[in-house]
Amino acid sequence: MPDCQSIDVVKHGRSAAGKQLYRCRNLECVGRSFILNFSYRGRLPEVKAQISDMAINGSGIHDTARALRISPTAVIETLKKSQVNLNKSTRPCLSSVNRTTQR
Ligand SMILES: [Zn+2]
Repeated sequence: MPDCQSIDVVKHGRSAAGKQLYRCRNLECVGRSFILNFSYRGRLPEVKAQISDMAINGSGIHDTARALRISPTAVIETLKKSQVNLNKSTRPCLSSVNRTTQR
């Protein structure tokens, strides 16, 4: 995650371990690269768009989270904010995740 907490980041090659590296586009931060963590990825516009697409296509919360390598919580938060009409197969999953996270 960039020090400045910005979400204005671009892909910047891969680390030696094969992880996707990103670089912040703020002028103060140019030159530093970093690996995005789970919760951070869910804030990226490109990831949010993929979450919405997968929900529309009927993917469940857990399938979406696994495919995009983010947490189920991030998927739920994004869908809540994005006004996506969840289909019937997604809704029961969403409510069960809510129950477990609120415990
Ligand atoms: Zn930055």
